[in-house]
Amino acid sequence: MINVNLNERLPERELMVQTQLIGRDITDEVIINAMLTVPRHKFVSEDQQEYAYDDSPLKIEVGQTISQPYIVALMAQTLGLKASDKVLEIGTGSGYSAAILSRIAQNIYTIERHEVLAYLAKERFKELGYKNIDLHIGDGTLGWLEKAPFEAILVTAGGPMIPDSLIEQLAVNGRLVIPVGDKAEQKLMRVTKTETCELKEENLGLVRFVPLIGSEGWDGSKIITSSNESIRK
Ligand code: SAM
Repeated sequence: MINVNLNERLPERELMVQTQLIGRDITDEVIINAMLTVPRHKFVSEDQQEYAYDDSPLKIEVGQTISQPYIVALMAQTLGLKASDKVLEIGTGSGYSAAILSRIAQNIYTIERHEVLAYLAKERFKELGYKNIDLHIGDGTLGWLEKAPFEAILVTAGGPMIPDSLIEQLAVNGRLVIPVGDKAEQKLMRVTKTETCELKEENLGLVRFVPLIGSEGWDGSKIITSSNESIRK
């Protein structure tokens, strides 16, 4: 049962959409509707809620971030989603971008390496009634082989390279959006797998994301549990 008033803070979302999204280059109606619908303030801790509709990223638990609304909308628009798409997200974080994707496409699979973030995101999906999101705790650089192929893959953390596993799990005509670069700054890349399985790469501009940590990312393959131990797979 949904026990949240989905109209709560709607005027702030309307202003966010007008000034931060339509005022820039977000034109896709389906994305605009998703950004109007999903209550972003429910994805941050109480002390951050007053800033939830600001034009900026915000801090979430364990030193991670929820991306700026414009970046979430831009990445979703860049994925060129269809309603029937199966989408993989790497880096669930607060769960906000998975929630946005879940209003646009049929099935969302999302992976987070921090157990505590995964737990909180799962609670939010339940509270808000978002039933088409499956969450897995693990190293997302390896993808989710059992559920592949994916028509779209979104990586919400910055890696040193494009993980081979994600390329392999991308469907023909599939789109992968990922920040690639060093730990300070990355290029937002869109990779499209063509009919002949060639890769078309486009650079969409500079961005700053927290690091993608994993066996095909930075610093090896640690999974962080709630007790804060590291498990090396
Ligand atoms: N999509 C998120 C949201 O809407 O709140 C923003 C995520 S934050 C910018 C990036 C997330 O990627 C962090 O939660 C981080 O723990 C996670 N992450 C980094 N490396 C990862 C990996 N290899 N597998 C899964 N998650 C990873």
